[in-house]
Amino acid sequence: MISCTEAVARLWAYLDRNLGRLEEQELEGHLGLCRHCCGELEFARHLRALLRRSGAAVALPGETRARLEALIRELGGQR
Ligand SMILES: [Zn+2]
Repeated sequence: MISCTEAVARLWAYLDRNLGRLEEQELEGHLGLCRHCCGELEFARHLRALLRRSGAAVALPGETRARLEALIRELGGQR
């Protein structure tokens, strides 16, 4: 079983369908058992959908956007 760190690091690639089959299965196995990471996945999915819908036109307060960007880096950057 992969660790939470690995699972979270794979979330964005998973949402982008960039994972290999084995990696995807490992991640899904982990998400099925780990509530923490399951929450992370839901969050990442909502966030991505929101960003995709609103595109660059979204007018977030600077502070909120800075926090989101930091979070995205945190979630997506650990490859
Ligand atoms: Zn986990």
